[in-house]
Amino acid sequence: MSPPFDGCPALVLNADFRPLSYFPLSLWSWQETVKAVFLDRVNIISHYDRTVRSPQIAIRLPSVISLKEYVPSSRRPAFTRFNVFLRDRFTCQYCGQPFPTQELTFDHVIPRCRGGRTSWDNVVTSCSACNLAKGSRLPHQCGMHPRQPAFAPTAYDLQENGRHFPPTFLHESWRDFLFYDRVEEEASDMGVAEDASADDPAFPHSMTSAEYWGAELEQG
Ligand SMILES: [Zn+2]
Repeated sequence: MSPPFDGCPALVLNADFRPLSYFPLSLWSWQETVKAVFLDRVNIISHYDRTVRSPQIAIRLPSVISLKEYVPSSRRPAFTRFNVFLRDRFTCQYCGQPFPTQELTFDHVIPRCRGGRTSWDNVVTSCSACNLAKGSRLPHQCGMHPRQPAFAPTAYDLQENGRHFPPTFLHESWRDFLFYDRVEEEASDMGVAEDASADDPAFPHSMTSAEYWGAELEQG
């Protein structure tokens, strides 16, 4: 019954019409969305061109909804692969070069074998070559220091970086609610492409990779 609609999540906006969360992006399954509509908790802002029917009713699937009641958000961004790379702008923190995600890895600034933890403040983005070159040495032993010290980013930090790396799997109706000032920029400079392009291999292209990159990492 459900498979045809599984690719139709709704973007959930707070009552101020900003996404409820960015990283991960606030998405509800169509089932959750329809339920919230019937409970009268959300406004429907935009639709998919799909209709779900039951014997009693038919409803066009919402693609963007907004909460009727504002939810204050204080949640810190999740510690995920994608968010670490996004914090570091998909750039190796040792050689300073940008790489496609499949050529990037994590480096523990203080190696795990020396008591370094897997956490926001000890993990940086590294290319394989630099990761290998550094091995299990401390930064001062090999003269390799991250260009930017590892830190726990705020949602704002990631949002700022995210504007330069728009994921390409977004439903078109969501775009107006994400990267909104980017749209204005593009309109004003006639689409001069200074940002990563849609076919840059560094960016995830499907919900499947979004799930992979969005998986919460075990801290320790
Ligand atoms: Zn490198």
